Amino acid sequence: MSGEGEYEAPRRARWSEIKAALESAGFEPSRALGQNFLVDENMLRAIVREARVEAGDFVLEIGPGAGVLTAQLLAAGARVLAVEIDERLAEFAREFLGPERVQWIVRDALEGKHALAPELLSALPAHRDWKLVSNLPYSAGTPILAALARLPNPPRSATVLLQKDLALRLAAEPGSKTYGAISARLQAVYAIEHRRDLGPQLFWPRPQVDTSLLRLELRPERPGAGELAALDPLLDTLFSQRRKTIRNRLTEFFGDGAAAEAACARLGLDPLLRPEDVGHGPWLELLRQRAEDP
Ligand code: SAM
Repeated sequence: MSGEGEYEAPRRARWSEIKAALESAGFEPSRALGQNFLVDENMLRAIVREARVEAGDFVLEIGPGAGVLTAQLLAAGARVLAVEIDERLAEFAREFLGPERVQWIVRDALEGKHALAPELLSALPAHRDWKLVSNLPYSAGTPILAALARLPNPPRSATVLLQKDLALRLAAEPGSKTYGAISARLQAVYAIEHRRDLGPQLFWPRPQVDTSLLRLELRPERPGAGELAALDPLLDTLFSQRRKTIRNRLTEFFGDGAAAEAACARLGLDPLLRPEDVGHGPWLELLRQRAEDP
């Protein structure tokens, strides 16, 4: 037994042993489920360091796979909520990790395309701080992050592996070509930093794309739920035609050209700017002004 503040090291099965066990059970990684397992022990440890996981932390891991990252989270003293869609992997990881400090939800983390699974929602802390640490499945990374950011008690930080082009989009600065509605949506809630790239050789099987480590930190001044709900349709309208000017897009949003001009003047924005040139800040300001003076 480990005493308080003292944690057992994870069982040191080497990746080759894990892979052999998976293969002898007839397991073949699914591309559709983004099953590219991180096999580099140093990198697994580096992710947990980046995530600043401390003893007693509540950590959500989406897609634990064979449980190698989970083992490092446990070694750092975290309590882990693990959500895995693939029953075979969940079974394997349960055996590999043992029952301690892992709560399992074996299902799709999403309900439909955009909402989080109800079992997941009810297992997340309502009041205390918690963290997301995950090697996210490529296909579901964006909707998962977008849905977590809209929770009343969102993760204090998210340290995630994502496909590189998506990671760069999420972390893009306004004014860059890759800055889009999803960048603004997430950056309204989180400060986002692209931390490093990971080559395909660090995964089994090797993915066809590069992977990046992204760190999201909750903004202390993040907007409330009502403001975020109002921000979504505004961003949808702004970015639905990104080659158009903000005057054009705001005219569509207000249904009125004069209101669009007036909004630009109040915000001090040149009406000829494009949506990708403006960060999320002025749009939140616009919604606040509208709420005060509808
Ligand atoms: N964490 C492991 C690692 O680092 O080696 C596996 C990461 S792998 C990129 C993605 C994992 O997410 C797989 O185990 C896959 O089965 C799981 N997965 C895929 N889609 C999912 C979903 N919608 N909900 C929950 N888990 C999902």
